[in-house]
Amino acid sequence: MSPRVAVSPRIAVVGSGPAGLTFARVMHRHGHPVTVLERDPAPDARPPGGTLDLQEGMGQLALEKAGLLEEFTARSRPEGQAMRVLDPDGTVLRDWRPRPEDRANPEIDRGHLRDLLLGPLEVQWGRAVTEVVPGGRDGVAVRCADGRRETFDLVIGADGAWSRVRPAVSSATPRYTGVTLVETALDDIDTRHPDLARLVGDGSLAAYGVNRALVAQRNSGGHVKVYAQFRTEPDRPTDLGTAGTEAVRARLLALFDGWAAPLLDLLRHGTAFAHRPLYVLPAPHTWPHVPGVTLLGDAAHLMPPLGVGANLAMLEGAELAESLAASGPGDLDAAVRAFEERTGARAGRWATMTLAGLDRLVSPDPAQALALWDEVQPS
Ligand SMILES: Cc1cc2nc3c(=O)[nH]c(=O)nc-3n(C[C@H](O)[C@H](O)[C@H](O)COP(=O)(O)OP(=O)(O)OC[C@H]3O[C@@H](n4cnc5c(N)ncnc54)[C@H](O)[C@@H]3O)c2cc1C
Repeated sequence: MSPRVAVSPRIAVVGSGPAGLTFARVMHRHGHPVTVLERDPAPDARPPGGTLDLQEGMGQLALEKAGLLEEFTARSRPEGQAMRVLDPDGTVLRDWRPRPEDRANPEIDRGHLRDLLLGPLEVQWGRAVTEVVPGGRDGVAVRCADGRRETFDLVIGADGAWSRVRPAVSSATPRYTGVTLVETALDDIDTRHPDLARLVGDGSLAAYGVNRALVAQRNSGGHVKVYAQFRTEPDRPTDLGTAGTEAVRARLLALFDGWAAPLLDLLRHGTAFAHRPLYVLPAPHTWPHVPGVTLLGDAAHLMPPLGVGANLAMLEGAELAESLAASGPGDLDAAVRAFEERTGARAGRWATMTLAGLDRLVSPDPAQALALWDEVQPS
């Protein structure tokens, strides 16, 4: 049964990540306010995560659709596109620096991007959605952990990897890739660790060994995020998630034993460790259309973190908003159905490509990682 569609459709987006906020911001630009439900109690309730590179034709196109490209250009870091590749003994294999006019993938801190997108939006913070039930007489029911129940004509799940909206349209669940990522960070690197600051440079540094990778990325304000990645048993993430800081550090130093001292220093000086086993949804992940509910971003196509997820999430958010804004209230369902058909195959291609990419970056044959880097890096 199609949900009842009011004159001005009641639309909710669940999640205020890149997908949900871009959707809401483009809708706002077209004069259609939507309800944004976010689990976090406040925008800065938890650390926002590392820097994001926003690509021309994807994240940057989405910001253009939101009317925010100029502000992005002012706040982003084109010099952050610099990329250095080392082998585990510290030999520099590639050292690519952007020209001043290169704007293909400038970096922006996630917190800055969130603030840019938030602008005038009114997010309902502290509203964790627990269940979405389509097909009701009054529309799609949304239940929250605070006990409230509301109905909408359209509910958009932009609530990330472990989406609570997804079960309303699909039984798919994320599976472990066999690769675990442990994240740490160094603050005030230029003053406290000038040698490491020079090693990382203005952008990213990556070193690839057998089934291991170490990536460091400069964020703004002298903050550097470090990602140690390694293969584990194919279907078993490590138990590092429950270990204390020094136990994780010791475990990582043992895993990367024999690597050059400056690379290991990135782990030695890391302040805290976050455990992020990498999960993916099946690729492609499609579902039979369910009137009144759809998915965006990681909720729809969780993929390995190879510089695509946030870009695609934002592009989808902007595209869905534009097509809803252009359709009449009675065409809402047709617009969503057409969007799902149009974007599902594209997301499937990216998901397949990034999974193959992860297999080459964290590989028994580190030459694969360098070859992949040469294929994607502009000359
Ligand atoms: C280490 C790392 C580096 C990455 N680097 C890049 C990069 O450089 N470029 C790139 O394009 N991508 C990158 N990605 C991928 C990118 O982070 C994700 O693809 C992107 O954040 C997805 O956006 P989203 O809005 O779909 O989901 P999320 O960013 O996960 O946002 C989901 C939001 O929903 C909220 N939420 C969750 N559950 C509920 C609920 N039940 N009720 C209400 N709210 C809820 C969450 O609190 C969150 O605010 C990286 C990922 C990782 C792990």
